[in-house]
Amino acid sequence: MVTKKPKIICITGGKGGTGKTLCAVNIAVMFKDEGYRVLLIDGDVENPNTYLLLNGKLENKKGVPFFKPEIIEEKCSKCGICAKNCLSNALLYVNDAFPIPILNICSGCQLCYKICPENAIRADSRTIGWTYFTEVNELSLFLGELKPSEARSAAIVEELLEKLEVILRSEPRKYDIIILDTAPGAHCDVELLIDFADLVIPITEPTKFGKLDLIRIIELIKLLGKEFRVIVNRSSLLGFKNQFLEELEEEQIEILGDIPLDTEIVESYCQGTPLMDNGSVFNKEGDGYIAFTKIYRNLKKWIEIQDS
Ligand code: SF4
Ligand code: SF4
Repeated sequence: MVTKKPKIICITGGKGGTGKTLCAVNIAVMFKDEGYRVLLIDGDVENPNTYLLLNGKLENKKGVPFFKPEIIEEKCSKCGICAKNCLSNALLYVNDAFPIPILNICSGCQLCYKICPENAIRADSRTIGWTYFTEVNELSLFLGELKPSEARSAAIVEELLEKLEVILRSEPRKYDIIILDTAPGAHCDVELLIDFADLVIPITEPTKFGKLDLIRIIELIKLLGKEFRVIVNRSSLLGFKNQFLEELEEEQIEILGDIPLDTEIVESYCQGTPLMDNGSVFNKEGDGYIAFTKIYRNLKKWIEIQDS
């Protein structure tokens, strides 16, 4: 199966634990099983775990460098210009002492390096995380990981997207479907990935908290002018499904599908085997399996419309 041009689908969610990764992996696997060439990008860089659910290994590790100002004491006149102009207050400076970079709040803007009148700042770099590229069962997985204690997660996401842009420029027909799995929330990492997508799928659950976070992420999606469809996970939770779906419909929020509570979904998660994989042992008549199949059919319809 091929698409006219790659379709970029972003799976996101306003809050953690709604089942984003579960949906991203199973949707990727369903497309792969039907012969589409699929690239899954794990942009949840503080907690990248798609490879576990695919039973894969992290390979082709590459460091992500980040600017690090290094003061050359022999050249520094201790004028303090760098510290006074640093918008992040990332240079500790007291009169007659050399400035001290505070790396975990440095934004890497390089302003200090550019404005130092004595050329006393060296542009060094440090590794703030890694990217990995792995092939798992005919599925390509590209994953970012932020180093513990580092704060610049957006720089890792930018690195993933830069590499994706290179692929799309140099080999535009390499993939039919590209799935982006984001971190929870509505912060800049998530925004970067949503902004890259043709279709955004926020995952929610039928609770007041779920609804609140869904509305927040939808605001961001609308601000970025992106098309979206919602998946309601754990839809059978305490019998609120119908009320929740009606509420979304009243607010003209289009629903791609809903996934009920299902022990086989939990089992597949625990075993690190996607529920929807062709070779999986899970029950094809099960509630979870049927729900994912419906979601897949709806996504195929969306692709057909895009390609028509
Ligand atoms: S601007 Fe340059 S010379 Fe002045 S304190 Fe900073 S590093 Fe030293
Ligand atoms: S790179 Fe930018 S944020 Fe970092 S210390 Fe220099 S001026 Fe401050």
